[in-house]
Amino acid sequence: MGGVPDPPRLAGPAAAAGRWRALGRTTGIAIAAMRASRPRGVTRPAPGGELGRGVALRGTVWAGGDSRPYDGVVLVGADGRIARIGPTWAVPIPVGVRVIGAFHTWVGPGIVDAHVHLAFGSAGQALRGGVVGVRDLGAPRVDALRRRTGHRRPPPGSPYVGVAGPILTAPGGYPSRSWGAAGFASFVSNPGHARIVVRGLAGDGVDVVKVAVERGPEGGWPVPSTAVLRAVVEAAHGAGLKVVAHALSVEAVGRALDGGVDELAHTPTERLPEPLVDRLAAAGVVVVSTLQTFFSGGGGRVAAANAVALHRAGVPLVYGTDLGNAGTRPGVDPRELDRLADAGLGRLGALRAATERSARVAGVRLRTGRLELGQPAAAVVLNGDPLVEPGVWRRPRVVVCDGRLVEPPEGQPDTLGG
Ligand SMILES: [Zn+2]
Repeated sequence: MGGVPDPPRLAGPAAAAGRWRALGRTTGIAIAAMRASRPRGVTRPAPGGELGRGVALRGTVWAGGDSRPYDGVVLVGADGRIARIGPTWAVPIPVGVRVIGAFHTWVGPGIVDAHVHLAFGSAGQALRGGVVGVRDLGAPRVDALRRRTGHRRPPPGSPYVGVAGPILTAPGGYPSRSWGAAGFASFVSNPGHARIVVRGLAGDGVDVVKVAVERGPEGGWPVPSTAVLRAVVEAAHGAGLKVVAHALSVEAVGRALDGGVDELAHTPTERLPEPLVDRLAAAGVVVVSTLQTFFSGGGGRVAAANAVALHRAGVPLVYGTDLGNAGTRPGVDPRELDRLADAGLGRLGALRAATERSARVAGVRLRTGRLELGQPAAAVVLNGDPLVEPGVWRRPRVVVCDGRLVEPPEGQPDTLGG
C-alpha cells in the first residue's frame, strides 16, 4: 500500500484515537490509493478463497502482543495485506468490500502451533481451525521437505509450515523403535557424523533441528552423548539453525542443557528440581507446552506443575499441541490454551504464547503473530471473545491468511468434531 501513511501500531484505544484523528485527513487519500493499487481484474469475490476487493473484519479487534482490544475494523486489501486497522469510526469500509463479523465477533491474529506432526494430522484442517502457522517437529526427510512452505506463500488451504525433518538420535534410539520406525529418526553415531548429518539437513533447507534424548519406558533406549549433542548444536548454529530437544526426564533435560540446546519440545514430565528450572531460565531455553496431550495420556499433572515452575522462573512457554499425539486434533485446541493459562499465564498470556511468542520460535517465518498495518494478514474472526470463552476457537467464523479467505464448509456445524 504505497500511498498509505505508515502509522505506528495501535497501542490502545486512547493512544490510537489521537493518531487516527491525525490520520483522518488522509483517510480519503488512503482509500483512493488502496483502490488504485488493487490489481486489475480482481474486482469481485472470486472462487478459491481469493479476496476480491478485499474484506473488512469487524468486531472486537485484538492486534496481538500487549495491545488493548477495541471495537474496530481490520481492512484486508486485495493483496492480502492489512490496509487499515483501527476503531470503527476511523476506518470507513469502502463500497463493495465484503464485511465479515459484527459487534459481537472477535478479530485477532491466527494461532501458531510450535509442535505438530503433519504425518498424523491435516494441515488443511489446522488452517480452517484457526492455525495459521505450524512447525513440524519430526517427519521423514522427503515428507518434511514436501510439506515445508519456507519463504513462499503457502499453497491454498495450507498454513505456513516450518519443518525439522527427521529427529536426530543415537543409533537405535527414540523414536526409531516406536512410532517413528518409518524414517522419522536419523541416527548420529559420533560428533563428526553428527556434524555431517546436520549440515545435510541444513542443505536440504530445514527450518530447525530436532534431537531426542529419550531412554524409553524401560530405560533401555540409547541416547546421544553430550559430545554428540554439542556437535549437533554447534553445526546447527553454524548453519543458522536452532536446536529443539525432546527431553522429558530430569536426566534428559540436564543432558540437553549440557549440549547447549535452544528449546525443549515439551514441558518435561518428571518433576524438575528447582536448580534445573533455574538453569533452563538462565540458558534462555524456550519450552513448547504440549500439556494437553500429556493430560489426554493420563499423566499431565506433573508436567503442569513443571509449567508453573518454569513460568515463575521466567522460562518462556509457547503454545504447541504435538498434533498427531494422544487426544490431539487439527485446529486450535482451547484446552491447551487453558493449560497455559493455568500455568500462570492467564488467558491473555496464553493467547500471547500462542501468537507472537510461538511465531517467534525458531523456524517460523512469514508470521508475526500480530495484526500489523501493511503486513500480510494472518487473522481469524471468532464468534465471541476467546478471553471470555476459549471454546470459540473450535469453530472460527473465517480465517484470512496469505491473501485468501478460509471458511468452514457450509452446513457443517463443527469442522473439528466437537
Ligand atoms: Zn512431537
